[in-house]
Amino acid sequence: MKNWKDNVRKVVPYTPGEQPKAKVIKLNTNENPYPPSPLVGNAISGVTLDSLRKYPDPACDILISAIAKYHGFDKENVFVGVGSDDVLAMGFLTFFNSNEPVLFPDITYSFYDVWAELFRIPYVVKPLDDDFKIIASDYEGSCGGIVIPNPNAPTGVAEPVSFFEEIIKAHPECVVIIDEAYVDFGYQSCIELTRKYDNVLVVRTFSKSRAMAGNRIGYAVGSKELIKYLSDCKFSFNSYTMDTITLAAGVASIEDDEYFKARVQDVIATREWTKGQLSELGFSFPDSKSNFIFAKHESVDAVHIFEELKKRGIYVRHFSKPERIADYLRISIGTDEEMRTFIAELSKIVK
Ligand code: PMP
Repeated sequence: MKNWKDNVRKVVPYTPGEQPKAKVIKLNTNENPYPPSPLVGNAISGVTLDSLRKYPDPACDILISAIAKYHGFDKENVFVGVGSDDVLAMGFLTFFNSNEPVLFPDITYSFYDVWAELFRIPYVVKPLDDDFKIIASDYEGSCGGIVIPNPNAPTGVAEPVSFFEEIIKAHPECVVIIDEAYVDFGYQSCIELTRKYDNVLVVRTFSKSRAMAGNRIGYAVGSKELIKYLSDCKFSFNSYTMDTITLAAGVASIEDDEYFKARVQDVIATREWTKGQLSELGFSFPDSKSNFIFAKHESVDAVHIFEELKKRGIYVRHFSKPERIADYLRISIGTDEEMRTFIAELSKIVK
């Protein structure tokens, strides 16, 4: 007998990090430990109830204009979405439309293979080397597209702009997406490459460096042609992705650059302090340019540390797959006080 279930699109969804209800030290989802700029609060309270009667601006003009001005681009070079997940998903749908496989690292953002499966995009993963570095030669030869985070997640390892320029130059046949979710925490952005190459899309988020994960704002910068294709797909799916409150909040964040830069520096300083402490406790880790550290202890099992920390109300992230990262923990950078407590508890666990 025929069964409707045979015609269902079956997927294994992405698993987001836990959002515990209780008050804990939350170092598991790379959120910013500081609140967004106070201007964001003013902007949100300035949104009138009456304005919510109407649909938001489908073109997201105020936010796109603010982002374009901030980076020195035209509005037509910018696309916005509901977090960078939405922007990336739309990028997969729009640009990865070839029979040739899309390439990305084996250890990377674990949403990429989920979108590839969802949209039935062929893909091949390319193993990182033993130091968790991307092997450039793996990305030679014709393919259906490339997506790489810089810095990579969950490793925190970053590559210079020149590394990406070589890849982009070698691939006029496809679009290269560079996911810069963490780039504000101290590394080189590839945004300027979008002026020179029309096949590169740089994706950013307000969730990490701008401390606005709860608002859901992501954006992409690329050539006008690329952005037009992306927008055409978006408008064929959902016209009103960004709500009125979020549009106002996003503009306010962009306008307070001083606050933004100061908080980013705070996170970087705490990250560097944490690196020193982790080394002293017998952890090793690739050098992180992000707001997290991917660390492995010389003798104590990662799952044991994870469980012990959790019992003490400290949440970090553990990935059991692929197997070669099962010994690692991804530790997001919290406030100084949170990291002091974390290190104090950790030292009891690994001693
Ligand atoms: N890219 C990478 C590499 C990430 O780690 C994340 C966070 N989970 C995202 C994109 C998506 O972030 P958001 O949707 O909050 O912008």
